[in-house]
Amino acid sequence: MAQKKNGLLIHPEEISEYWENLILSSGVDSVGIHPRGGSIAHETLSEFLSNLKSGVYDRFLRVMKEHGMEVELECHALSWLLPRENFDAHPDWFRMEEDGVRTPKNNLCPSSEEALAVVEERSALLASLLPFHGPYYHIWIDDTSRNGTCHCERCRSLSPSDQALTIYHAILRGLKRYRSDAKLGFLAYHETMIAPTVPPMEGMYLEYAPIHRRVDRFIGDPNCEENKRETAHLCELLEVFGREDAEVLEYWLDNSLFCGWKLPYKKLNLDEALLREDLKYYRGKGFSRITTFACFLGEDYAKEFGTPPIDAYGRILKESEEP
Ligand SMILES: [Zn+2]
Repeated sequence: MAQKKNGLLIHPEEISEYWENLILSSGVDSVGIHPRGGSIAHETLSEFLSNLKSGVYDRFLRVMKEHGMEVELECHALSWLLPRENFDAHPDWFRMEEDGVRTPKNNLCPSSEEALAVVEERSALLASLLPFHGPYYHIWIDDTSRNGTCHCERCRSLSPSDQALTIYHAILRGLKRYRSDAKLGFLAYHETMIAPTVPPMEGMYLEYAPIHRRVDRFIGDPNCEENKRETAHLCELLEVFGREDAEVLEYWLDNSLFCGWKLPYKKLNLDEALLREDLKYYRGKGFSRITTFACFLGEDYAKEFGTPPIDAYGRILKESEEP
């Protein structure tokens, strides 16, 4: 049976006693550490890993564990798993653009067995650097809204989702070398919202992150074109991956998104009625694992705008578990 999850994600640089207290009082049971995405995601992941032994993180992990919280890493990692320095020696490991030129930018060539072998090896290494981690991993391909796929002769007929799933299988094989019960999320996001046709291997689950949804309209709103499109994909994705471990990664508290991923901070407003409606929809689809980005809500945010509505989020999420 799936381990239930009521969670939120924060940036590692926002970790502090302030967040510790907010998280522990909110009733959520899982916290995701999310090094920043975009084209520097492999650098923010490296930075997180090299600071892991620092006092701040060490304390945070200890306190969270003492309170029975699950702590997970959730990040775009492909350029870390296949270091870009390999490009000069092995251009065939990397993507071919539509114009026929190989590039080290974003992901890899999923038809390259050698590239996938490196990814598998480094996924096992990454898991070994995260001894606090549970079996559910969220190690995603690079953070790109387009230009994430390979157009070489062997790859060009494969959809973005089929290319992604081929890569995720290599990551999962590596994670399983470290712990045999590892599971890995297929991040449905941007180009990978459309269900893959490659059958997922044992241990793959759906991680549904509807980035193109409208956050001011209920996700199941039949009169909202954007949300209708996102939920049509969801039904197809659930057919492929099943409901058992499926997870929602939402944006209800994603102040980084609302701020356009740059300062200054804006005040976060949580629409509690919309959150309730969304949760009813997701629970109705069978989701027992639900989380949201909650970035750009650290101590600096609170100095300007006061305590963000984390308690309300945790309470409403908990209430939504009731049948
Ligand atoms: Zn290729």
